[in-house]
Amino acid sequence: MNMHATTRPVRTTCPYCGVGCGVLATPLPGGGLAITGDLDHPANFGRLCVKGTALGDTVGPNGRLLVPRIDGRDTSWGEALDLVANRFSETIDRHGPDSVAFYVSGQLLTEDYYVANKLMKGFIGSANIDTNSRLCMASSVAGHRRAFGSDTVPGLYEDLEQADCVMLVGSNLAWCHPVLFQRLTAARESRGTKVVVIDPRRTATCDIADLYLPIAPGADAALFNLLLSEVHRRGMTAGAPVEGLEDALAAAQRGNPAITGLPPDDLARFIEIWCANERVVTVYSQGINQSDSGTDKVNAILNCHIATGRIGRPGMGPFSVTGQPNAMGGREVGGLANMLACHLDIDNPVHREAVRQFWNAPRMPEAPGLKALDMFRAVDERRIKALWIIGTNPAMSMPDANRVCRAIAGCDFVVVSDIMAQTDTTRLADVLLPATGWGEKNGTVTNSERRISRQRPALGPVGQARDDWRIMAEVAQRMGWADAFAWTHPSQIFAEHAALSGIAGRLGSDFDISDCAGWDRSQYDAMEPFLWPRAGARQGGRFFGDNSYHTPSGRGRMVQVTPRLPPATTPSAAFCLNTGRVRDQWHSMTRTGTSPRLSRHLAEPFLELNPCDAESLGVSPASLARVTTARGEAILRVLVTDRVAPGQPFAPIHWSDQTASAGRVNALTAPLVDPVSGQPALKSTPASIAPFAAR
Ligand code: SF4
Repeated sequence: MNMHATTRPVRTTCPYCGVGCGVLATPLPGGGLAITGDLDHPANFGRLCVKGTALGDTVGPNGRLLVPRIDGRDTSWGEALDLVANRFSETIDRHGPDSVAFYVSGQLLTEDYYVANKLMKGFIGSANIDTNSRLCMASSVAGHRRAFGSDTVPGLYEDLEQADCVMLVGSNLAWCHPVLFQRLTAARESRGTKVVVIDPRRTATCDIADLYLPIAPGADAALFNLLLSEVHRRGMTAGAPVEGLEDALAAAQRGNPAITGLPPDDLARFIEIWCANERVVTVYSQGINQSDSGTDKVNAILNCHIATGRIGRPGMGPFSVTGQPNAMGGREVGGLANMLACHLDIDNPVHREAVRQFWNAPRMPEAPGLKALDMFRAVDERRIKALWIIGTNPAMSMPDANRVCRAIAGCDFVVVSDIMAQTDTTRLADVLLPATGWGEKNGTVTNSERRISRQRPALGPVGQARDDWRIMAEVAQRMGWADAFAWTHPSQIFAEHAALSGIAGRLGSDFDISDCAGWDRSQYDAMEPFLWPRAGARQGGRFFGDNSYHTPSGRGRMVQVTPRLPPATTPSAAFCLNTGRVRDQWHSMTRTGTSPRLSRHLAEPFLELNPCDAESLGVSPASLARVTTARGEAILRVLVTDRVAPGQPFAPIHWSDQTASAGRVNALTAPLVDPVSGQPALKSTPASIAPFAAR
């Protein structure tokens, strides 16, 4: 099993959240890994959270997919890859490139992501590749592009330690990005950083809040519009080199504070703290992004920072923290249906031609492809006839999951590459391809502050598992593109991506790692974590502190935001259901669910209800409740707390039909998306709740 006969620690990166902590993984003589934090990694300086600490529990053959399978029978790699290549080629020949699609994952390494993107966009000739990162941060990407002219994270983690005030909006940092929370907590203790938490739910993050604002669901844009209006009134926007200030202000000044649901005194205190502290960082996450007006909410936040110049300087700026370990790497390679590699623009013919020439590609799509929810709608409508799902579990994680299950089950040809044998999605596949998992994979990831780190193998592959990049390259070779997919090691893919970034840089892209283009394997293996860009005036640093943006005018672009509230509840669906994560589980629990110590925190799916709601519904703590929406129902254990407001129950997303009967919460959520980003709204679904009595 252990092909790497070493007991020395291997420097690698945690595969869970976007903090991207450095990990030392030491192979144990009897198998498995001992895990400690990497003291030298600049994301965590040795810290780990409970999920990272338990990584050693989650490796090994338990539950893994060990061999390729076709229609449930074990087969050889040769037969499986031939079938995948032939069926994709036949489908493209008969129905055109847009009849096929890849749905990939923010868990993939950048090299995997690059190969998937190159195969679909450059060689198949469609842009139908999208990712579960669409569910995570697409609204931030869209907001960045509107405001900055590029998808660029302006700041660094150390800004949280250099700020005088940190605003956390729709972000349960304590549970979802725990090591950043540890860094913030330490800064608060050592230098008295003020912490303001804005969230309808009183999460664990509120434990360190100097001010907690229990905002009405969806009212974040209204709050930041109020702030914009006030900072302008105080003269703090004077001389701001921005576009669109007047229009953004006009919309902001029409705001109604009552929408926020916050007492006037709290609103005044929030504004006072923001205005009094120039060094202010606004951290935001899924509570902002996962909304049908998520991009506008992002821009309402960015507006305040751009207008006041509080951006891209030590201790100040907006900060989108990504949910997944490599959501950022996916953005860098153009892993979203509306992007090209190296932050180039798929709508720009010059950019398309530059990438086509670099790849020596036979064809390139001329328009964006299907975003995640549209992709599964096209599968359902039989417009997509061959689908390859890589490293993700959409049958449980997509909104309206029952319909997504039916769509995948009805698709002509479904390939699933995964590490696990039994997930809600693998059981729907025609062909199953075993992929290497964390601890076996070799490549790079980029964290939320633009820091690229290595994931290195400490163990050999389980069973016949292969790396995702290699699986895709072998299919591409069989489809007739042997030369373009002839890599033998991920270092070659990294070097190719770096070379493309040099061309992109000359076209105005901010993503530049071109000095790595000539790297050989030994340089790649020796890579230390680094921030991009690696060259130029901004090398390893912040963006936009010089008021120089990537828009055509070079100025920051303010966006007119008219706040929109989430779908109204009705007498028959009187609750606004919020969904999200818990501290010790990850996504659909395929890895964290194998660790007994992680399951000790919260062992089963639940519905968190305010005591007033529990009383009026006649449900008692630990009883079962039936939650029903227009899309489906779930049976959940009742947890009564005052952390949630009346009418605003919360349910975690992690459990599925594989792990808990009728606990699949995304069977309840609606396929409602932000019109700009395509990110689904997962925080506010009208629902009814009743005591559960077995039928
Ligand atoms: Fe892993 Fe995130 Fe925890 Fe760091 S904070 S150890 S990256 S889960």
